[in-house]
Amino acid sequence: MPEVRNWQLGRAMSYPYDAKHPDRQFAFVFNINRCIACQTCTMACKSTWTFSKGQEHMWWANVETKPYGGYPQFWDAKILERLDQANEGGQVWSGEVGDAPDGPYGSFDGMTIFEAAQRTLTPDSARVLGYLPNDDEWNAPNIYEDNPVGMLGVKDKLHETGEQLPSHNMWFFYLARICNHCSYPACLAACPRKAIYKRPEDGIVLIDQEQCRGYRKCVEACPYKKAMYRGNTRTSEKCIACYPRVEGTDPESGGDPMETRCMASCIGQIRMQGLVAVDGEGRWAEDRYNPLYYLVHVAKVALPLYPQLGTQPNGYYIPPRWVPKPYLRQMFGPGVDQAVERYMNPDRELRAVLQLFRRSNRIVFGYEVQEGPLVYEGTLHGRPVTIHDDTVIAYGREGQELFRTTIEEPIHVRESIHANSI
Ligand code: SF4
Ligand code: SF4
Repeated sequence: MPEVRNWQLGRAMSYPYDAKHPDRQFAFVFNINRCIACQTCTMACKSTWTFSKGQEHMWWANVETKPYGGYPQFWDAKILERLDQANEGGQVWSGEVGDAPDGPYGSFDGMTIFEAAQRTLTPDSARVLGYLPNDDEWNAPNIYEDNPVGMLGVKDKLHETGEQLPSHNMWFFYLARICNHCSYPACLAACPRKAIYKRPEDGIVLIDQEQCRGYRKCVEACPYKKAMYRGNTRTSEKCIACYPRVEGTDPESGGDPMETRCMASCIGQIRMQGLVAVDGEGRWAEDRYNPLYYLVHVAKVALPLYPQLGTQPNGYYIPPRWVPKPYLRQMFGPGVDQAVERYMNPDRELRAVLQLFRRSNRIVFGYEVQEGPLVYEGTLHGRPVTIHDDTVIAYGREGQELFRTTIEEPIHVRESIHANSI
């Protein structure tokens, strides 16, 4: 297999095709700390793309409850278990979390799903380590909803003490998921028909419905299980990143690149999606005032989901601050401690960038922070805190102002005449 560079792993890795990178990449940051599992995003996607016959089980966007939930059931535990079997005790990271653009989380010394396939699978042509879920594993998009972890990880045995940060004894959190439009897609790597392609202009990964014959190799290979089989058409389907909106060709967009339906509908304001510039090596080209670049590469509060799988996913998460670190490290890699610390003690710029989430459905390509007056001084978790009412201005693709917003949000007091009315 050819070697490609995976900056999330801090090393080169095997992949069935030579690297070919898009000019820009569809990417997103989800702030888990804000998700309330209202499932508005899930239904926005469902009602747009998967409401037809044969798609009843399909949830291209879903929100699941961790640690027990998963759609399909136990998808992450199952692929991690297979990797451990292929490389027992070897799935570890080394080195330091730091500023290296080619390895900000250190170096992953274990095996990716592409490398493990070469060790464990027969016939020799097998390209990706994966598995095909049973039909009933696709039944529920949020099974074990709101089930917390029990004492010492024992299910249904709840902890009896009160809960305090920095981490809780009893916990759960919501993990919102869509296709990661990976830089090295496992679905694409596994397709014998070459029906799956990654668009050069925005890195969106699509399945050509004319080419697909429903072999389900993509369903088996995608470690995130975001390629799905449709029985009545005998083809596989997946998230298309609402590409008419992202292109600005959707009539509603007025020509401006627009965020996807799941992003735009998010009640909890956890989601921000963008198009980041990519360099010839597949890294994000430096773009200091792009909010996604800032969150992932400067503030380093947003981390990839299971980077060790090796697909270089383009979905990033601000980890939940109350969850024990060992669980978070296996899910988001070694950058977790730094990310949670930074999120809990934000500086003025981070606080301002977090205000950009969901003020508009237009894609933000740049921002600027204008300093405002001091509005609060106090302590938080024993540390001094100051808050300024700064203004953050968002810019679009052509550098035009999209909107501006402040740290202090306006308060609207409902007139008493409206009390008890709906
Ligand atoms: S709409 Fe937003 S807050 Fe609601 S479940 Fe989806 S990601 Fe979470
Ligand atoms: S998340 Fe899965 S379906 Fe989406 S691009 Fe990556 S490998 Fe393919």
